[in-house]
Amino acid sequence: MKKALPIFTIVALSIQLMYCQDAPPSEPTVLYHINDNVKNSAEDYFVQISDTWRTYLNSNYFFRRDNEHWNYDEYAIPEIGYQPLLMDLRRKFHYGGKIQCSVAGIVPVENNYYLLKSIFTERVDSTDMVNINFIISVYAKIDNEKVQFYNGIQYFKEIYENRKVGGINYIIHPDHEFDVSAASRMGSANTEIAKQFEMSPIEFDYVIANDTRDLSEMTGVHLFEYSYQPVASGGFADTYNNIIYAGNNSAYYPHEAVHLYTNSKFRMQGHPWVDEGIAALIGGSTGYDIEWHWEKLRRFLIKSPDYKMDNLTDLQTYIPNGEFMTDFRYAIGAIICQKIIEKEGMQGIFEALQAGRSEDNYFEMLKQKLNVEREDFGKYVKTEILKLQPISDEVMEAFEY
Ligand SMILES: [Zn+2]
Repeated sequence: MKKALPIFTIVALSIQLMYCQDAPPSEPTVLYHINDNVKNSAEDYFVQISDTWRTYLNSNYFFRRDNEHWNYDEYAIPEIGYQPLLMDLRRKFHYGGKIQCSVAGIVPVENNYYLLKSIFTERVDSTDMVNINFIISVYAKIDNEKVQFYNGIQYFKEIYENRKVGGINYIIHPDHEFDVSAASRMGSANTEIAKQFEMSPIEFDYVIANDTRDLSEMTGVHLFEYSYQPVASGGFADTYNNIIYAGNNSAYYPHEAVHLYTNSKFRMQGHPWVDEGIAALIGGSTGYDIEWHWEKLRRFLIKSPDYKMDNLTDLQTYIPNGEFMTDFRYAIGAIICQKIIEKEGMQGIFEALQAGRSEDNYFEMLKQKLNVEREDFGKYVKTEILKLQPISDEVMEAFEY
């Protein structure tokens, strides 16, 4: 069995704010600093890149596709790993607050790029503690005295091996042994998912690494839950740039592919439980098909029949069975999607994906589609899960993919 550690999924970070950007305040929000260990800060390239980075960070103009300091040739917007930083900066520009950017290095790397590494820190109120909020790598090029920044993955796409299988371009970490048969299964899954969503197959980049630590090296962000732990499970989808990041040591990751379709067809119009539910129903989770997770939930409910399952917020966690593999959201979200499909086919899912993002919207949708009242939600889920046929341990193994 795969190591029992959690999946992390960043599906669609809330970027609604991105379309309303204001002029920066007169007081700098970003306290800019070059770390004392840096010894090449007098070099021309260092000065040019550093000055441009400072201007970019203070521009409060990040997500539009026409910031002159960002390069958009390959990807539509800055990659998903940068977005928590950029959104945090936006909040500070609007609501106040300061963050310190310490440049830890600017060095030439391959293909005429420069690596720029920055650490973002913030003083915690009323204590002497300083938090490290972000450790970020961006890549830069200087062309005719003009500096432009690039997504980390664009750099690695150029310097690491790429393998194209159908419409999927794999960008392969050098320690990863690529499995063509898994890639071919991924291609078939992509075609199948496209059919279900009544779309042409999406072509996308698929970043593949043995674990989340290697994956972190290939993104521009080096401080998230599993940046430094070799966890061979988990990944995320950048649905704006059509990139799957897989730290699960596999060329097959249908769950994340489903997110590319849900977000391409109905971006940010449905509740996250619908998006996760349909992704888990079609593509499983943590390396197992959904039937495996439903059986885990069934066994748990037999042991703990009184477990409270009424509040969605309380259910944003793993089933407390000691395995850290089955997220309630995925198991429950998927059975709800299954029930909708039984009644209305995929059309019902398309409607659910457009039914609004709030919890109230989710329960209105359940009432309308499945005639389930909010107060009966937990009871309904338990009843449906307990109706499922038990699965033996031997058969359970077959659900690993
Ligand atoms: Zn997901």
